[in-house]
Amino acid sequence: MKIKVYLTCSQCLLLMFAKYMIWFATPDLYVGAGRCRLSKVGAGRRPPPARVRVAVRLRPFVDGTAAAGEPPCVRGLDSCSLEIANWRNHQETLKYQFDAFYGERSSQQDVYAGSVQPILRHLLEGQNASVLAYGPTGAGKTHTMLGSPEQPGVIPRALMDLLQLTREEGGEGRPWALSVTMSYLEIYQEKVLDLLDPASGDLVIREDCRGNILIPGLTQKPITSFADFERHFLPASRNRTVGATRLNQRSSRSHAVLLVKVDQRERLAPFRQREGKLYLIDLAGSEDNRRTGNKGLRLKESGAINSSLFVLGKVVDALNQGLPRVPYRDSKLTRLLQDSLGGSAHSILIANIAPERRFYLDTVSALNFAARSKEVINRPFTNESLQLRVLAPIKLSQKELVGPSEAKRARGPEEEEIGSPEPTAAPASASQKVSPLQKLSSMDPAVLERLLSLDRLLGSQGSQGTHGLNTPRRERMVLMKTMEEKDLEIERLKMKQKELEAKVLAQEAVDPKDKENASPAVLRPLARRTVTVAKPLKKAVVMPLQLIQEQAASPNAEIHILKKKGRKRKLESLDASEPEEKAEDCWELQISPELLAHGRQKILDLLNEGSARDLRSLQRIGQKKAQLIVGWRELHGPFSQVEDLERVEGISGKQMESFLKANILGLAACHRCDTS
Ligand code: ADP
Ligand code: MG
Repeated sequence: MKIKVYLTCSQCLLLMFAKYMIWFATPDLYVGAGRCRLSKVGAGRRPPPARVRVAVRLRPFVDGTAAAGEPPCVRGLDSCSLEIANWRNHQETLKYQFDAFYGERSSQQDVYAGSVQPILRHLLEGQNASVLAYGPTGAGKTHTMLGSPEQPGVIPRALMDLLQLTREEGGEGRPWALSVTMSYLEIYQEKVLDLLDPASGDLVIREDCRGNILIPGLTQKPITSFADFERHFLPASRNRTVGATRLNQRSSRSHAVLLVKVDQRERLAPFRQREGKLYLIDLAGSEDNRRTGNKGLRLKESGAINSSLFVLGKVVDALNQGLPRVPYRDSKLTRLLQDSLGGSAHSILIANIAPERRFYLDTVSALNFAARSKEVINRPFTNESLQLRVLAPIKLSQKELVGPSEAKRARGPEEEEIGSPEPTAAPASASQKVSPLQKLSSMDPAVLERLLSLDRLLGSQGSQGTHGLNTPRRERMVLMKTMEEKDLEIERLKMKQKELEAKVLAQEAVDPKDKENASPAVLRPLARRTVTVAKPLKKAVVMPLQLIQEQAASPNAEIHILKKKGRKRKLESLDASEPEEKAEDCWELQISPELLAHGRQKILDLLNEGSARDLRSLQRIGQKKAQLIVGWRELHGPFSQVEDLERVEGISGKQMESFLKANILGLAACHRCDTS
C-alpha cells in the first residue's frame, strides 16, 4: 500500500540518518581505534616498534686501586660487547653484547653523542623519550647524567641541544611555535617529591585517557635558555644535596627524575598541538643492600629502593615474556616509567659499571638487568591533538543535531518566522564554524562516504585524518541521546502506520460504495483487491466483519462464522449482536454448500481457461505457480476438479486446504456483490 511504503521510507531515512550520526560520532567503534583517537597520529595502525636501547658504561678506577695493580674484573671487547670473569669458573669469562659499550676512556661527549643525542629529534615529532642511568652506587650514574662543570654530562648537554633545536624549529616564519618546560622530582621511599617546590608533599602519579603518565600539581617551569634551566635546576639539585648530607647518601637512595616537555602549536589551521616528553633519570643505586649491613632507617630505605628496583626487574621480565599484566603500579618508579618501558617512549638505558672487584656481584647483576632490558619493545607514537580553541566551543542544540528539517518541524510557526535562518545560510559563529558534526548533519551521504574513505586513507598513511570527522566526547553523548529519541519516533510512526491501516480497512468494510469517492491513495489498493480477490489473510479477518454488517438483516445467511475462544468453539450466526467482543476474538468462516460449489466451479474455470496472469489473481498463486499450472494443463489437459491442483508439482495437499478457503471466500464475496 502506498501509505505503508511512505512510512517505511521515512523509517529507513530516519534509521540511515541515525546510523550516519552514530558512525561519525563514534568513529572509533567502527575503525577499532582507541578512545582518544585524535591523540595518536596513525592510531588506526600499530605504531612501529622501537626496542629499548641499552648502553653500558664502564668507569675508570677512581680510588687508586689501579695503582696498587688490581686488574679490572671487566673489560671491553669492542664498541658493543664486553666480558667479565665468571665467578663460578675462573677459567671462563661471561660475554655480553649491547647496543653500545663505552669503556673507561670514553668521554662524556662519546656517551652523549652515541646514545642520547639521536633520540632528541623525536621530541620535536611529539614523541616521548627517556634516558635512565642504572647501576650500583659509585659506578658513575650521576657522573654520566649530570657530570661536573668541567665534564658536563647527559643532562646539560641534552638541555643545551634541545633548547637550540626548539629555537631553530620554533622561530618566526616556521609552521610550529615551540615552548619548553622543566620539572624536577625525586622518588624517595615511595614518595614523589617536587624538587622545584620542596614544601609540597607526596604527589600522585596518574594516567590520562591517552595512556600518558602525568603528575598533577608538579611544578613546571618554562625555560627558554640554558641560563633559565640552570636557574631552576641548580637550587633544586642543592635541595637534594642538602638532603643527602643530612640523611647520609640520600641522593644515591632516591631516584632523581628531570622531566623536560616540548610543546608545539601549529601556527596555521588546523592548529594541531604536539607534546613530547623527555625523562632524564638518575636511578638509585642497584647494589644489593643486604651486603651493606644497613640497619634502622638505612634498612628501611634499602627496602624501598630494592622494592622499586625489584619491581623494575619484574616489569622488564613481564614485558619480555609478553605477560598480560605488567606490574607497573607496584612501585612509584615503574608507574612513572610506564610510558618509557614497553610504552610509548624512545628509551635508552645506560648501565653504569665499575671495574673494581668489590663491585663484581653488583656489576654482574647490573649487566644481567641490562641484558634483559634490551629485549623490551616500545611502541612510540606521536602525541597530537587539536588545540582547545578549535575543539572546545562546540555547543550544538538538539535542533541542530536533528538536522535543519527536523529542527524546523520542532519550532513553532511564529518561531519559524522570526527565527534565525538555516545554519548553512547563516554567517556561522565561531562555534558553528568549528563544529565538524554540524557540517556532517547537513551533508550528502555520498560526500560523507568520500570523507570517510579519505579519513581512512590518511589514517593508513600515518597522517591525522580529516578533521571534519573528529567528534568530541560530549557531542557523542548528545548523539546517543538523539539516537534514542529517533528510536522512539520510529516506534511512534509504526503505531501510526498500524492505526492508518486499520482505518483504511474499516472504511473499506463499512461502505464499499464510497470507494469511488475515496482519495487515490486509498482507492487504488481497494479497487485492485475487489477485482483480483488477491489480498491475503490479513484481510480475511476484516472481510467477515464487512459481511456481518451487510448481512445482519438477512435471514438466509450464506456465510457463518465460527468463533474460537481457546479450545472452546462456539457457533454463532452472522446476526450476533456484539461486534466489539468479536473484534477481540479469533474467527473462522463457514460457507454455505451452494456458495462453496459456486466458488469451486469458478476456480476450476479459472484453472482451465485462465492465463498465467489470470491465475495470479487467485490467492496463494504467484508467478511461478501460475506458470506451473499452465504447463501442467498443456501437458495433461484440463483439470477435472480443483483438487487436481495437488498433482501440479510444487503445490502440496496441505497448501490445498488453505488455498481453497482463501479463494472460495474471495469468490463468495464477489458472488454476493454480483447478485446484490
Ligand atoms: P653514582 O651516581 O653511580 O653513585 P657517581 O656518579 O657519583 O656514582 O660516581 C662516583 C665517583 O666516580 C665520582 O667521584 C665520579 O666523579 C667518578 N666517576 C664516575 N664515572 C666516571 C668517569 N666515567 N670518569 C671519571 N670519573 C668518574
Ligand atoms: Mg649518584
